Amino acid sequence: MDERLPWHERLWRQLQQRLAAGRLPHALLLAGRVGLGKLVFARRLARALLCEKRTDEGDACGCCRGCRLFRAGSHPDFSAVRPAEDGKAIKIDQIRDLRDFLGLTAQYGGYKIALLEPADRLNLSAANSLLKTLEEPPGNGLLLLVTAQPARLPATVRSRCQTIRFDPPPLAEAISWLAPQTNGGLKPGTLLDVAGGAPLAALAYAGGESWNRRRELVERYEQVLTGQLDPVRAVEYWLQGDLAENLRWLIGWHTDLIRLKMDLEPPCLSSPDLRAVLRRWAKRQPANVLFDRLDAAIRLYTLCSTTQINAQLLLEAFLGDGAGSGEPDVSRTCA
Ligand SMILES: [Zn+2]
Repeated sequence: MDERLPWHERLWRQLQQRLAAGRLPHALLLAGRVGLGKLVFARRLARALLCEKRTDEGDACGCCRGCRLFRAGSHPDFSAVRPAEDGKAIKIDQIRDLRDFLGLTAQYGGYKIALLEPADRLNLSAANSLLKTLEEPPGNGLLLLVTAQPARLPATVRSRCQTIRFDPPPLAEAISWLAPQTNGGLKPGTLLDVAGGAPLAALAYAGGESWNRRRELVERYEQVLTGQLDPVRAVEYWLQGDLAENLRWLIGWHTDLIRLKMDLEPPCLSSPDLRAVLRRWAKRQPANVLFDRLDAAIRLYTLCSTTQINAQLLLEAFLGDGAGSGEPDVSRTCA
């Protein structure tokens, strides 16, 4: 993918101005919802800072020694830290290694750059260890922390970083970027609606796989709610694909149910394409139950993403609580 995304340009220029003025901080926190390209931006910046012949726009040249090493994943002054397994924590040993890395002199005399993603996966002891580095940053070190959930980072860590806030671009701008890439399938506007305006998330939906998984989950969830599918059997569908994404959808639907309960024509829904099916669910249940279910969905997401508790058991309990809570309808298909 082209790393120059149009909605990044303003942030990029601001950063270039800071760099030119010698005011680039030692730690940047790149925050914003999933699908805005924060990691693309962070890597673009790292690559540019390690390049020996930056372009006028401040981008990497693509052909110098620094660029070649970066592309090969072997630049000695760059380190990327991720959880050892998807969905797990970044651990203290990884941060200790990072401190050792940052403490060394840069091999090529420029920056030493560490990229942490997703930074909200730092466990407590790792975050405390990182704090020491943030308090006494080495002269040429730059830490790039990327997160969609900055609130999950300790305030002490956040306060020692300068935040770069990523917001969804205006709809027209997002559509003009997305439309040529969707090959005439689903409408770009619909994809963006469901993706909360985040263009890369919308593009991922256009690929079909996660879009189809989402539709399947809606259908299976309704079958559980109407007592037509055993919750224990339904769990297998929830464990397919990206569990965190599946649970974010679940929270979105439950938020929509409350909006629909309060107002049959709410001005905005997180899943506007599912308006008809969600309206059907909202009708079946009293408001207090819908609020309880939303709380339970949020708790489920939090437990699955922050603890080692068995997700299968949590899902069985959640789906079991909702099972059979609505009468089956004659028309069950998704809108
Ligand atoms: Zn270069």
